[in-house]
Amino acid sequence: MASHLVWFRADLRVHDNLALAAACRSSEVEVLALFIAPVKQWQQHSMAPRQAAFLLSQLNALQQSLAKRGIPFIVKPVDDFAASIDAVREVCETHKVTALFYNYQYEFNERQRDAAVEKALSHITCQGFDDSVMLAPGSVMTGNHEMYKVFTPFKRAFLRRLREELPECVNPPGVRTKALPDKLEPITLDYPQQPFDTDLFAVDEKSALVRLQQFCQDNVEHYDTQRDFPAIDGTSRLSACLALGVLSPRQCLQALLKAHPDALEGKIGAVWLSELIWREFYRHLITYHPNLCKHRPFLGWTDNVQWSNDRAALVAWQQGNTGFPIVDAAMRQLNQTGWMHNRLRMIVASFLVKDLLIDWREGERYFMSQLIDGDLAANNGGWQWAASTGTDAAPYFRIFNPTTQGERFDSQGVFIRQWLPALVDVPTEAIHSPWTWADKEQITLDYPRPIVDHKQARNETLAAYDAARKLL
Ligand code: FAD
Repeated sequence: MASHLVWFRADLRVHDNLALAAACRSSEVEVLALFIAPVKQWQQHSMAPRQAAFLLSQLNALQQSLAKRGIPFIVKPVDDFAASIDAVREVCETHKVTALFYNYQYEFNERQRDAAVEKALSHITCQGFDDSVMLAPGSVMTGNHEMYKVFTPFKRAFLRRLREELPECVNPPGVRTKALPDKLEPITLDYPQQPFDTDLFAVDEKSALVRLQQFCQDNVEHYDTQRDFPAIDGTSRLSACLALGVLSPRQCLQALLKAHPDALEGKIGAVWLSELIWREFYRHLITYHPNLCKHRPFLGWTDNVQWSNDRAALVAWQQGNTGFPIVDAAMRQLNQTGWMHNRLRMIVASFLVKDLLIDWREGERYFMSQLIDGDLAANNGGWQWAASTGTDAAPYFRIFNPTTQGERFDSQGVFIRQWLPALVDVPTEAIHSPWTWADKEQITLDYPRPIVDHKQARNETLAAYDAARKLL
């Protein structure tokens, strides 16, 4: 009997999984599933312990779902990517695998690894699928067959393609004949873990699907007016599921269109769809610009910026002790939950780079070490956008003022008070500059004074970017 192996990576679900569906198409074959845990690689890339706990929860849920369908799940820890190749080969030999199925990952190292695996397994069929995107990289290009560098025309072309041919979801595989034991050995991972809030982040595929449907039915219509205000729970919080493939973007699209059929025409739901298209944009970009995966800036001249080496400032930023309430509240949300609201990600990233003049890669790395939704393409894209080093980035002379950002997006200080207990009693009119108020009232706050003067920092940053550009 032929034997098919499905190699799960960042696609930890049974619904709408292209590789799994293809492997299970015939009932005449035996199907096995594999997950390889490259622990050293995770350490090198500072995978967050919360993301590791989230991953483990999904792996155990996936094992159950696969077992119900009669598909055994093998989990193999290995040191690094090179060892992954030997691990796949070994499983293929032991189980006399006749065909390997997997969903593409677009990061540079992952692509190199997959090419090496295909070479090592040239005697069997290897089939890859564009599963973690709605539209495959290369299918949304300019008239000159180049990857777009600007988001808006990319989005326009993307929507055109969606209107021409909507990507459908594939069904989960049915139950195969071979019964598996009811009691499964729980999967463990030899990697530091930190518990995550199971009310905020779905523990398994089933609850992720429920959350997606609820969000599309009840919340999407308010998304465009609420999404920028961190005190409101106005976004989907599905990023962790999308990052590890517990949900697919096609499922998001289909759930959205079911609730709001005119979202593709710019009606209700269009703004949320636009965010999903940002996700695709960054995935397509890393495919065509692999240097982004090596943390090179898209705009080469920005590598000439003379960054500050102020470690104390970096630590103050990481710990939420900068003296700028919206920045500090955001960093504490990140440190305590593993997630940060998108508006706040933009504010804290701008602050690190444009107020502290610290290299954006420090921020990128720190985010990965904390985020439950850490995703190379989205994180790198977000950081390069904020640092003005990327494609379609904010121009370098556009610098967020952290105080006015706080006033605009947390005007009553509700979010700030939630994360900074030391400021609970500060009156609302003073919440964004508590020390100005405290000095006047002669009150001592258990909260740091601002570590920089924004106006001065702004001028220094502009000078540093100007100087770097002149070296072009
Ligand atoms: P929603 O607002 O509900 O959006 C739906 C989905 O669209 C998200 O789950 C996410 O998959 C995608 N999405 C939304 N906004 C963006 C965006 N700007 N870029 C790419 N995809 C987007 N997102 C990550 O998933 N992982 C990261 O590591 C990450 N790092 C970031 C770093 C910085 C500096 C910035 C500015 C943004 C980053 N983002 C990242 C994008 C965005 O902040 C998060 O996806 C979003 O906050 C997740 O919350 P949500 O699921 O409620 O999003």
